[in-house]
Amino acid sequence: MSVVGERSQMYVGGAWVGAASGKTMRVTNPATGEALAELPDAGRDDAWKAVDEAAKAFAAWAATPGLERGKILRRIFELMTEQRDDLARLVTEENGKPFDEARREVAFATGYFSWFAEEARRVYGEIVPPPVSGKRLWVLRQPLGVVGAITPWNFPATMVTRKIAPALAAGCTVVLKPASATPLTALALARICEAAGLPSGVFNVLTSKNSGVIGQVFLDHPALRKIAFTGSTEVGKRLMAGASQQLKRVSFELGGNAPFIVFDDADLAPAADGAVGIKFLRVAGQSCICANRLYVQESIAAKFIPMFIERVNALKVAPGFEAGAQIGPLINAEILSKVDGLVQSAVHSGARLDTGGRRLTNGVYSKGLFYAPTVLTQVREEMAVAREEIFGPVAPVMTFNDEAEVIQRSNNTTFGLAAYFYTRDLRRAIRVAEALEYGMVGVNDATGYTHEIPFGGYKESGLGREGGKQGIEEYMEVKSISVGTSP
Ligand code: NAP
Repeated sequence: MSVVGERSQMYVGGAWVGAASGKTMRVTNPATGEALAELPDAGRDDAWKAVDEAAKAFAAWAATPGLERGKILRRIFELMTEQRDDLARLVTEENGKPFDEARREVAFATGYFSWFAEEARRVYGEIVPPPVSGKRLWVLRQPLGVVGAITPWNFPATMVTRKIAPALAAGCTVVLKPASATPLTALALARICEAAGLPSGVFNVLTSKNSGVIGQVFLDHPALRKIAFTGSTEVGKRLMAGASQQLKRVSFELGGNAPFIVFDDADLAPAADGAVGIKFLRVAGQSCICANRLYVQESIAAKFIPMFIERVNALKVAPGFEAGAQIGPLINAEILSKVDGLVQSAVHSGARLDTGGRRLTNGVYSKGLFYAPTVLTQVREEMAVAREEIFGPVAPVMTFNDEAEVIQRSNNTTFGLAAYFYTRDLRRAIRVAEALEYGMVGVNDATGYTHEIPFGGYKESGLGREGGKQGIEEYMEVKSISVGTSP
């Protein structure tokens, strides 16, 4: 099979279709600016129809035994595994990330199907002892209904599979609106689902630049019972306000401002490697769990910071298909200008620019949106670069004196997604891990998240969890049944 297909249609009700209006939208390669596809630009009517189709498909899919649903999910896993390189090529083309990184992303995204294929048959209920005689009580979990999923461009495969695999495993049907910058990977996944035997209407993909309009249909259509969204905190808040009208369920994965702390008792080389990996080697820093600010204990700063900068200077910035590429382009001009603005404003306020700090424009960089990996030191908390989510290859470095101070400074943010710290002291590791107000904490490990544990944030970083055994529960209602047994 070819996962690429015609690149001109979207997938609704088991059919490959155009937009009712006939309108189209262009998808471009951010490394070269070249057009990749002209896809349907779905509007309100298309979205309403997609939810209708998902609603029609719901009863039969919900009634399919978990074991059978799991078999189809397992087949999707196998086909994605077979098509890994083609999927990765699409990810690099539309997102820009290096091909090796795209291959790793696709393998990781694929893993959600194997995990939830297994979970599909383990949706247990409970039998509860009644408080009085003449009664039996039990608790069931049932699929919620139609789910509207909205995903961002930074992980075109993972963001989709982390939502649709648990939703399908639970027995829900899904209408997905992927980011308008990266819909091709989502359409390829639809082709794989179709080839794996997923029934028509169970999974639908709308391509559209009218995200507000599609989001409004998700809020308005009475058959749609849940919105699963990954993206900015601002849009998440807007969806949550809208969802209150029909009290729709929501789960959100939103922005982050991850601290990365290096204590004076840490092994410095692994800490420097970890910091470079989680700051720069995930979509050029355009990831919600990227380290956003580095805190280095004052007593080791003179030793650690040069080690970190040396590693940053060795990174290779290049178009994604070039051999050895580690950092690709930023996704659009708006992000590039925001990233550069944060750097210039920090320097203007007294931060020191140790490396980078500029757009790369010569030679292979001339057609894309490349930014030099950047390290800023002498950064202060009040600077925007330390408070806002950077979403780019820029590392602001600050120093601290003691544990209590760095915990307080790390927690002093409205975000709470991921945090990282390095120490060799076991007692400190436990104290700090428990004190950080974050949904995910990496201790001597900046690569910690896997399918087996829940992913999600505290505070304004989100609601609900994806992955782990918790992931499937986000797509289920709980029903209590009370039966009178007296004759
Ligand atoms: P975004 O603007 O919120 O977009 C995310 C998705 O929402 C896209 O599909 C977008 O469509 C859609 N959208 C935009 N406005 C909408 C509206 N009014 N109603 C309904 N949908 C709407 O975010 P982004 O800038 O693309 O992505 C970066 C953000 O996502 C960052 O803050 C990052 O931290 C967060 N993120 C979080 C996680 C996590 O797991 N916590 C993972 C990745 C990213 P268009 O593409 O058409 O604009």
